[in-house]
Amino acid sequence: MSMKIEEYKGVIDRYFKYLPVSNKTPVISLLEGDTPLIPAYKLSNQLGKKFEVFLKYEGLNPTGSFKDRGMTVAVSKAKEQGSKAVICASTGNTSASASAYAARANLKSIVLIPKGAIALGKLAQALIHGACVLPVKGNFDDAFRLVKEISQDYPVRLVNSINPHRIEGQKTASFEICDALKDAPDFQILPVGNAGNITAYWKGYKEYKSLGKIRKLPVMCGFQAQGSAPIVKGHPIKNPKTIATAIKIGNPASWKSAEAARDESKGLIDTVSDRDIIEAYKFLSSQEGVFVEPASAASVAGLFKLKKLGYFSKKSKFYLSYSKTIKIVCILTGHGLKDPDIAIKNIKEPKAVEPDLKKIVKLLKLK
Ligand SMILES: *Cc1c(COP(=O)(O)O)cnc(C)c1O
Repeated sequence: MSMKIEEYKGVIDRYFKYLPVSNKTPVISLLEGDTPLIPAYKLSNQLGKKFEVFLKYEGLNPTGSFKDRGMTVAVSKAKEQGSKAVICASTGNTSASASAYAARANLKSIVLIPKGAIALGKLAQALIHGACVLPVKGNFDDAFRLVKEISQDYPVRLVNSINPHRIEGQKTASFEICDALKDAPDFQILPVGNAGNITAYWKGYKEYKSLGKIRKLPVMCGFQAQGSAPIVKGHPIKNPKTIATAIKIGNPASWKSAEAARDESKGLIDTVSDRDIIEAYKFLSSQEGVFVEPASAASVAGLFKLKKLGYFSKKSKFYLSYSKTIKIVCILTGHGLKDPDIAIKNIKEPKAVEPDLKKIVKLLKLK
């Protein structure tokens, strides 16, 4: 008996015909994508019999966030077009991803980050991959403005999500969800920062729909942190504030297309508080066994908020009466180990004990 095992080669290989690549494109891949869609039994129970909640765990990408999906395309195209360096502004994960893919492609990586405002794990990644990291005395929006100007005047390729190749790569996540569920989910919930990701998902769903690969489109529900919610408030935020550093952005680059995704899908973009985010963060780790960074928990905080408002039942009344299950996918954008400080702040630090068996057994209440 011969068994053929098909080797997974990353998102460009798997979704080649849907991406702006050709056989001439040198594919720079770390085998990103193919992330699990984990059934969340406890979340599903909380919502009720007719609901099924899934977690798209993007923290399992090679550098620990969904940014890798876009970066494989952006860096491969930069390489194809002869770039020698890439540049980005970052709240952390873009820089980690750009630096890893640049290292693999023998490109120089330049990163501008808001000083003191990115999680330790992400800074460590950019540095260890050999990036030139410049902390800017300002916020993300200041850093972003600078890299846009630099990339216009100097020979460096901008790999923030205004680079369309980033969006193209990131849309593969919606393809994977549809391939797994054999259709689009009824609702998709995700955090919104610079708004490239909601733009990418919506683009992916629409493409699959027009190809006839799915029957329906999901309702898109985006969540911003309360102190950093320009789209919800309707104006840029000068000094955005939130513990969820990955979505601490006051003037999103893809603002318009995020609103288009919201409106075309008849969805919403709303806020969650930092307290809601931490509550969801702890729920995910202690109840579902899935450890994410705070920004990612915004999607589950949003799920809880919408459940309280009766949003899903109201919105899916039609389906419910036909006793079909309603599928909700929450996007978990980044890994928990990115931001260990937040985890440690939210647990009781354990006290050391003497190496004494009896005492330890007693302490553990094993009898
Ligand atoms: C980048 C990022 C976001 C925000 O995505 P946008 O495309 O900027 O809206 C959310 N969570 C994590 C972990 C991220 O790295």
